[in-house]
Amino acid sequence: MTWETVIGLEVHAQLATNTKIFSAASTAFGAMPNTQACLVDLGMPGVLPVLNKGVVDMAIRFGLAVGATVAEKSVFARKNYFYPDLPKGYQISQFELPVVLGGQITIEVDGKKKVINLTRAHLEEDAGKSLHEDFEGYSGIDLNRAGTPLLEIVSEPDLRSPAEAVAYAKKLHELVQYLGICDGNMQEGSFRVDANVSVHRPGAPFGTRAEIKNVNSFKFLERAIMFEVERQIDVIEAGGQVVQETRLYDAAKDETRSMRSKEEAMDYRYFPCPDLLPLIITPAMIEAVKADMPELPDAKRARFMSQYGLNDYDAMVLTNSREIADYYEAVVAATGGKDAKIAANWVMGELNARLNNDNLSISESPVDAQRMAGLIARILDQTISGKIAKDVFDAMWTSQDSADAIIESKGLKQITDPVAIAAMVRGVIDQFPEQLAQYKGGRDKLFGFFVGEVMKATKGKANPGQVNQILKDELAK
Ligand code: ADP
Ligand code: MG
Repeated sequence: MTWETVIGLEVHAQLATNTKIFSAASTAFGAMPNTQACLVDLGMPGVLPVLNKGVVDMAIRFGLAVGATVAEKSVFARKNYFYPDLPKGYQISQFELPVVLGGQITIEVDGKKKVINLTRAHLEEDAGKSLHEDFEGYSGIDLNRAGTPLLEIVSEPDLRSPAEAVAYAKKLHELVQYLGICDGNMQEGSFRVDANVSVHRPGAPFGTRAEIKNVNSFKFLERAIMFEVERQIDVIEAGGQVVQETRLYDAAKDETRSMRSKEEAMDYRYFPCPDLLPLIITPAMIEAVKADMPELPDAKRARFMSQYGLNDYDAMVLTNSREIADYYEAVVAATGGKDAKIAANWVMGELNARLNNDNLSISESPVDAQRMAGLIARILDQTISGKIAKDVFDAMWTSQDSADAIIESKGLKQITDPVAIAAMVRGVIDQFPEQLAQYKGGRDKLFGFFVGEVMKATKGKANPGQVNQILKDELAK
């Protein structure tokens, strides 16, 4: 008998504000421990939290992007628990009344589209961090992260496989970056995923779920779910029962381990935070955000296909991030919109390979869109061949020079003078009488040999189309 898997994800996206959700302390990553936690973040008596307006705009932005309802009124509550990295004794989080309700994300797996429903998205503050390394048996507490704004995005249990869960998480990851509300940096913890997983027999009700906490890469997400599904099936097939619990994924061992069970789960005693007014969002606020919405990934993809004549795959790669898409469009615009496909090949091919090789993001590219366009323009007007263009590109990568300057200084201009090419073609033919005889005797394959020799003789600079034509004529003589 087979099993069916059910997955629902809770994603914590750290909102890209400069200051914290309820205080003016900086949210910059990587500062010395405890240099960015102010009295409000510590919950000292006598201080009051003040809501950062930026996070409200970001929540609205997200809600609009996923077609959700933006709540007119939402409420911040206190979630009470004790932990060393939470000196206040409570975390402020929206609970009963979240700011975003419903919404949808469309994923694609194996060419099949599927709509995943969102339950809600709510605003909350992050806690601090316990550091267990380098303290000779002691743990350290860093409260820099306390009060960092998070948007927790909860999906319905609509996902049916690890692949669907990863596709959904990636789609969300791409979306929050497009929206400019989260930097998406998973290593730094800006985008963390909790995966709820259960299994059941076809036709039976959903099984009991386990929740795997804080997965911080797509690969680990896939592996953690795969391991968890197998584990639950083994438990049930051995006659046992899955218990509702929180588990942790250990990447080194590639397994999930129990952290705490539902019996040990805390009663958080949620109640509305008396220090904060309900969050009221007016239609005017929503309109203002709407007027300022960027183009979203799916719309951009469709536009790239219709406007630039790109295929599905190219459009997908080029809209993978807003930076790549912007770079690409800048290149096309700078080449007068002439050959969008060549520009696509260069951005996805040569540029992308170089960036990967040097471990750079596109915003750090040594060759900006303008210089890239300068190179493509010389391919389009046949000043250089595509092959020589790669050498020019290499030179551009390590200098500030334009394609024109490099072509000029290295003498790489394509040879297009038919008289000059014909002279070189005859020179090569004279050089290889044996091959010429064989060719005349019917060995057609040798045509390629002559082309190669001519290109060699011209250091690749002769226009390949002309070389072919002229060679044909000369060999026929
Ligand atoms: P809690 O409040 O305990 O976190 P929720 O009902 O809000 O529980 O669900 C949390 C997450 O668990 C949601 O993403 C939801 O889709 C998912 N979920 C709920 N039931 C199941 C199930 N049987 N199997 C897998 N995931 C589930
Ligand atoms: Mg939960």
